[in-house]
Amino acid sequence: SPGLYIVATPIGNLGDITLRAVETLRGVGAVACEDTRVTGKLLHHLGIKKRLIRYDDHAGEADRERLLALMEAEPVALVSDAGTPLISDPGYRLVRTARERGIAVTSLPGANAAVLAMTLSGLPNDRFLFAGFLPNKAKAREDALAELAAVPATLVFYETAPRLDAALAAVAAVLPGREVAVARELTKRFEECRSGTPQELAAHYAAHPPKGEIVLLIAPPGETPAGEIDVDALLLAALTEAKP
Ligand code: SAM
Repeated sequence: SPGLYIVATPIGNLGDITLRAVETLRGVGAVACEDTRVTGKLLHHLGIKKRLIRYDDHAGEADRERLLALMEAEPVALVSDAGTPLISDPGYRLVRTARERGIAVTSLPGANAAVLAMTLSGLPNDRFLFAGFLPNKAKAREDALAELAAVPATLVFYETAPRLDAALAAVAAVLPGREVAVARELTKRFEECRSGTPQELAAHYAAHPPKGEIVLLIAPPGETPAGEIDVDALLLAALTEAKP
């Protein structure tokens, strides 16, 4: 039936698409996507041929209105290049307006790099805060980290390989002593998840420049970095034992 179907797609491994997502993509009248070549390739792999409509970060009011009119008449899927639409990807205004106009909106669960990294990192997962991409400029980046310093949750950021060194340097400066994890190339051949202090990870990636897509995670305040000796606790234990 007509409406908007938000469909998550794989983040690297083409096997990571649900049966329902495939069925939905097969059933819709059109697919709105960021890049028609990227989505064209995925649909080709699935053996599906559909009308593709570009809807990316540059989409304006008129593009949105055209899509909204279409989804009042037939089912329309929204996908992004990879993972879950709207999560650091286009679609927020489209979904908001569709809901305001009483258009049926449904969302299908699927791959998401932030949640996947959270499950893999070994960092506390009872509370986590997804904060998207850190700002590009050094001062703004440090300010953003400082603003989140007291949040009692694991912090999750999207990063890119060329910016990882700058991000780790900022974490080392603003949140020294926090355990950090770098989850890279998730679901792909060279998947890795590495943890340590920001200084340790900065040294590692200076020697081995990272490639590919990255999620950066930072432990909540008060967690002891992995592999680092908690001198305060040792001292306290020694002092307590030494008591007459
Ligand atoms: N909507 C996507 C999702 O649900 O994960 C995220 C889109 S955002 C524009 C792209 C960023 O997601 C990358 O810079 C990286 O931080 C992260 N990402 C996407 N795929 C990844 C992967 N396979 N491994 C690690 N991080 C990934």
